[in-house]
Formats: sequence, C-alpha cells, structure tokens
Amino acid sequence: MDLQRFPRYPLTFGPSPITPLKRLSEHLGGKVELYAKREDCNSGLAFGGNKTRKLEYLIPEALAQGCDTLVSIGGIQSNQTRQVAAVAAHLGMQCVLVQEDWVNYADAVYDRVGNIEMSRIMGAEVRLDEAGFDIGIRPSWEQALEDVRKRGGKPFPIPAGCSEHPYGGLGFVGFAEEVRQQEQALGFKFDYIVVCSVTGSTQAGMVVGFAADGRARRVIGIDASAKPQRTREQILRIARNTAALVELEGEIADEDVVLDTRYGGPEYGLPSDGTLEAIRLCARLEGVLTDPVYEGKSMQGMIDMVRNGEFPEGSRVLYAHLGGVPALNAYSYLFRNG
Ligand code: PLP
Repeated sequence: MDLQRFPRYPLTFGPSPITPLKRLSEHLGGKVELYAKREDCNSGLAFGGNKTRKLEYLIPEALAQGCDTLVSIGGIQSNQTRQVAAVAAHLGMQCVLVQEDWVNYADAVYDRVGNIEMSRIMGAEVRLDEAGFDIGIRPSWEQALEDVRKRGGKPFPIPAGCSEHPYGGLGFVGFAEEVRQQEQALGFKFDYIVVCSVTGSTQAGMVVGFAADGRARRVIGIDASAKPQRTREQILRIARNTAALVELEGEIADEDVVLDTRYGGPEYGLPSDGTLEAIRLCARLEGVLTDPVYEGKSMQGMIDMVRNGEFPEGSRVLYAHLGGVPALNAYSYLFRNG
C-alpha cells in the first residue's frame, strides 16, 4: 500500500489523540475497554473534524490547478461546509456553499446558529436551497460552480462529505496508519473500530487502511443516513476505488464493509430517544460531547453493542469521534431540560 506518493497539505495538528473512555467503560460493566480517537479536535481550523483530514488530500489538487474558490454542498447544519469555509479562509480562497434542506426539523434558529453561523462568519457565500437529503451530485451545486466561472473565478468542486472526489478516501487510509503507530506506543491493538457513516468516504478509507493488516471487518460502521443501502454501496465503491489508488494488495470484498443499520432512525438528522440517552450518558460520564445527527448515533450504537454483549469480553474498542458538535446549538430545544 502506498499513501506517501499523494501530496498532503497540513490542515490538522498532526496525529489526533487517543483517549480512554474509562468511566463509560466501567458504567457499561467493565468487560470491554472503550477508547476514542479525537477527530473532533484534530485542527485549529473552526474545530476541525473528519472533513479536515480528508481535505488534506484534496487541497493540493486545488492549489495545483490554480483554483481560487472552494465550492461545496451539504445540509443546513453541514459540518463539511463549515470545514471547507475554514480551509478556504485559511488559504485566502473564496468559498461558495450550497446548504440544502436535508433535515426534517423545524427550529427558529436552525439556519442561523452552529455550523452555518460559523461559515458565514468565516466569509463563505452561503446559498440556502430547498432540496431534501441526498448524498449524490445536485443541480444547485452545478449552478454554484457555473456562477463562480461566470464571474471569472476558478472553482474547485468538493462534493458532499468529500466522498465523490477520487481522493476522498485517502485521509482515512492515513487514519489507519496513524492508529497503527499509536498502537505501537500504547503496546496493544484495537479489536474493533466504531465509525459513523453517511456519505461513506470515512469508513471506506478506514476499510482500506485497516485491510492492510487484516482488520477491514473490524471496522464497524454505524449508519446515520437512515438510507443504509445507498450508504453501503457508496462505502464499497469508494473503498474499491481508494484501494486501487493506493495499490492495496488484495481485493476489497463485499463483506469487508460492515454497516450496522439499527441506529440511523428515525431519519437522517433526527435523533431517537436512544440517541439522546447516549449523548447525555457520554457527556455526563466523560465530558465528551456528541451531536444528534452523527456521533450521537454511533455512540448509541457502540453503547448498545457493549450492553448486548456483542463485543467479546476483553475487547478494546476504538470509537472514531469524527466531530459535529457545533450542530448541537441548532438542536437546543431537545436539550432544554438538560
Ligand atoms: N460524523 C460527522 C460529525 C460528520 O460530519 C459526518 C459527515 O457526513 C460523518 C460522521 C459521516 O462521515 P461520512 O460522510 O464520510 O460517511
């Protein structure tokens, strides 16, 4: 496997820390050791997150092409678009963001606080669009690219979650390499890695990265799209493309993509009671925050699997905390009583 030949523009602090979730592990019976790898604080650029790691491999192409405007798309409370806005500001580029109506949630401040507020503060041109949830390519996005061209700019398109970009999976191949180095320092290996999946390139990159040491199937994806078939297909396709790029030895099989579909409901962007319980439990035992759209669902999945005894006794489980906490502000109503 060869990741080194791809240029990487540094946007993160370096390896993200791995911290034990001691009190949560004990609360759940102490038979499984839980740890978190903190992509939620991987960068000083507007709080970072999983997209910042992915963008490290996309930005060299934008710079090589002489682009002056980053164009991206997501939901109204997209973490991706906030991270793209931060990177654009950091590089002195313009930024155009299409923010679609992905979530069936009404709150007076939903389109004013959290991620979208930060993107506006960082100078991005934010375009609200009425289209609903979809992880594919959209006309509104094509329009945004065209508008940048018309006004004489050179756009660099960054699709939802960076996932459809050919290099979208590379960042999380690097994540696996990083975990291997950290495991050497820790003196043990993780038995399972739990990760939230929606547009797919985070898990796809991990599947490829961990396939290198036979652990692809130890990456447990927790679907948060509530349209898991589409997400699963996308993870598999991106994993195969990424494997070819980095010249992974051996094939990525269908079974290498493990996607748990139990926790994505009721819909993308809406938490279940179980999601809210998991958010509160982790926050109260660990002081670690997760959000109702993404990490709350993967946290719920991990907690539930420990409670059900789905991880063998003595397992060490690494929770990939991919960020997303700024969206909590948009869901303040759900937590009005704590
Ligand atoms: N967690 C957070 C906080 C995210 O912003 C995203 C983005 O979609 C994900 C998880 C899912 O990652 P991916 O879209 O690569 O599947």
